[in-house]
Amino acid sequence: MIVIAKIGTSSVTAANGSVDTAAVGKLCSEVAGLRRDGHTVVVVTSGAVTAGVAAIAPLGGYRTDPMTLQALSAIGQPRLMRVYEDALAAEGLLAGQVLLAPLDFAHRQRYLHARDTFTRLLELGVVPVVNENDAIADDEIRFGDNDRLAALVAHLLRADILVLLTDTAGLLSADPRHNAEATLIEEVAEIDHELEQVAGGAASPMSRGGMSSKLAAAKMAVWSGSRVVIASARRPAVLADAVAGQQGVGTIFLPQRRALGARKLWIAFALRPAGRIVVDDGARRAVVERGKSLLPAGVVAVEGAFEADDAVEIVGADHVMFAKGIARLGAARATEWVGLHTGELSDDLPHEVVHRDDLVVL
Ligand code: GLU
Repeated sequence: MIVIAKIGTSSVTAANGSVDTAAVGKLCSEVAGLRRDGHTVVVVTSGAVTAGVAAIAPLGGYRTDPMTLQALSAIGQPRLMRVYEDALAAEGLLAGQVLLAPLDFAHRQRYLHARDTFTRLLELGVVPVVNENDAIADDEIRFGDNDRLAALVAHLLRADILVLLTDTAGLLSADPRHNAEATLIEEVAEIDHELEQVAGGAASPMSRGGMSSKLAAAKMAVWSGSRVVIASARRPAVLADAVAGQQGVGTIFLPQRRALGARKLWIAFALRPAGRIVVDDGARRAVVERGKSLLPAGVVAVEGAFEADDAVEIVGADHVMFAKGIARLGAARATEWVGLHTGELSDDLPHEVVHRDDLVVL
């Protein structure tokens, strides 16, 4: 199996923020175990920002605005990597650092190149250790959380399983800080709004994750056809149990049986939306139930300054997104054509706001 193991900041750093050698050691020995069983493993790790802050803290005089925190990852990332290198070396394995930015997924060429890089490293027997390229990523377009990054890597490599390792046992039925009755949700067949409510918000300025970002990542990965497990990083043999599909290992999300094709997944999850199109109920039904293209007649409003070929979110009257696609018309023309029927449109441009081939219902 192809396994992506993602570990969060709180699980790889100690209370003082430095890299937790024992925690990384545990993870790497589990990685080695999977490798001995013939599995392919890629690690996605957080912790660079926190380790960077811990390193500079004794000197004092630093700020904690997002730009500074990102810059400090330049100190933390090599420290983090050194620990992985040593821990994997102790298992007779070589670590290879791969730092990714959102544009690596948004541009098809770079996306394919990144896949080739991983393939080559894996052929060479290297364990890729991935993080976001925090130090130089533009805050406007950062992933911001490694859960999403890990899901994109799972998609890129067509992983069989994505394991999100964290400091809780998995997804709980309520927030354990406020509700003592909170219990582990062992299996999720479909991620719906109700579950998203359960996951809530959370996370700190340094670790951006939290349960809601894990759920969003899980959704992305199950749509790519991967099984997802959210589990405790501290659990003994957590990776082996997750791979074996053992009940109770954490929260298991079953893969969607009908995984989306590569292009649709790329539209749905890798492209950043440049605007939103609000549609009426008829158009919504045509798109969702009958797989139709979105035409100007069904559009109620156009938001944002997108151009043709930009990604857009498609929302209903309730302003909740139900589909995503690539616009065939720019925002200016789409606005001009709001509510018009096909006979009323000029012939110089496509008549679909979003063509069905470029549209994904989510
Ligand atoms: N890339 C960030 C880091 O290594 C972590 C982002 C996250 O917490 O998900 O510090």
